[in-house]
Amino acid sequence: MGRSMAYFKGRVVPVEDARISIMAHGFNYGTGCFEGIRAYWNEEQGEMYLLHAHEHFRRMARNAKILFMELPDTVESMVARSVELARATGYRQDIYLRPTLYKGDEIIGVRLHGLNDEFHIYAAPMGNYVDTARGLHLGTSSWRRIDDTAVPARAKIIGAYINSALCKTEAVMNGFDEGLFLNPDGHVCEGSAENFFMVRDGVLITPGVADNILEGITRSSIMEIADREFGIKTVSRAIDRTEVYVADEIFICGTGAQLAWVSHVDHRAIGTGQMGALTARIREVYYQAVRGSLARYHHWLTPVLGAPAPTVGTKR
Ligand code: PMP
Repeated sequence: MGRSMAYFKGRVVPVEDARISIMAHGFNYGTGCFEGIRAYWNEEQGEMYLLHAHEHFRRMARNAKILFMELPDTVESMVARSVELARATGYRQDIYLRPTLYKGDEIIGVRLHGLNDEFHIYAAPMGNYVDTARGLHLGTSSWRRIDDTAVPARAKIIGAYINSALCKTEAVMNGFDEGLFLNPDGHVCEGSAENFFMVRDGVLITPGVADNILEGITRSSIMEIADREFGIKTVSRAIDRTEVYVADEIFICGTGAQLAWVSHVDHRAIGTGQMGALTARIREVYYQAVRGSLARYHHWLTPVLGAPAPTVGTKR
């Protein structure tokens, strides 16, 4: 049940009717930025929830600034359009919204200034992005992560994703599930589309925002859970490649990947090779929170169908 739809040129239309020109600047030069927002279906409540919708549009507004672009409207209004779009699909399953802001001019000449912005969102079904049921095997990529002095990773730029594509394809062709980027300086950065966390001696550690990572919204959610549930303050710092091999636990996270635990990196078992205890505890909370089953994380969610706020879950 349901149909993939798009918010396109101010109207909600079937995705087949949302077409852009082969001359569009954003298509030819990758001049634009995008977001990925999950909407989780909660069968029990008969409700669909957009996850961190406001945060995604706030990040998009910041990234647009880097590219001399502007969101077409306020964050609040972008969220309202997303709700309208998700509702219009009629889906009663997990879906994904892809807002894209790009230079729409049909001209030749690479630049950012003096061009017009176009914006659209599409909504389509989405299952698992990576296998979250088993431990993943990461392979350190021979491709380095783009540096902020060349292409800013934080800006979620369309064209920048060739860097991620090279990493992912190399990893899969070499028999790994996902690639692990090192920065130009050789420190651990992130996966092709996921932020990286490790646990060493009970300390939760992740690369910092000045380490060429995307400033992940799931990354922040994980930090919130670790602090709120377990009193653990995440340490953001540079991580060496070989620290990863001796870590007790590793997981990667993102809107698509959600929270995926890592059993091996470069053919070395991480800890016991099983899911780590802290990873399991954080994961459990995350998966319940995003689906609207924990009242205390309801501030992450925007209801799509307008059902009353969920009351399930332990209050603290
Ligand atoms: N890093 C990269 C390169 C990504 O593309 C993504 C997915 N958006 C992430 C990290 C995770 O970010 P978020 O949690 O905001 O989805």
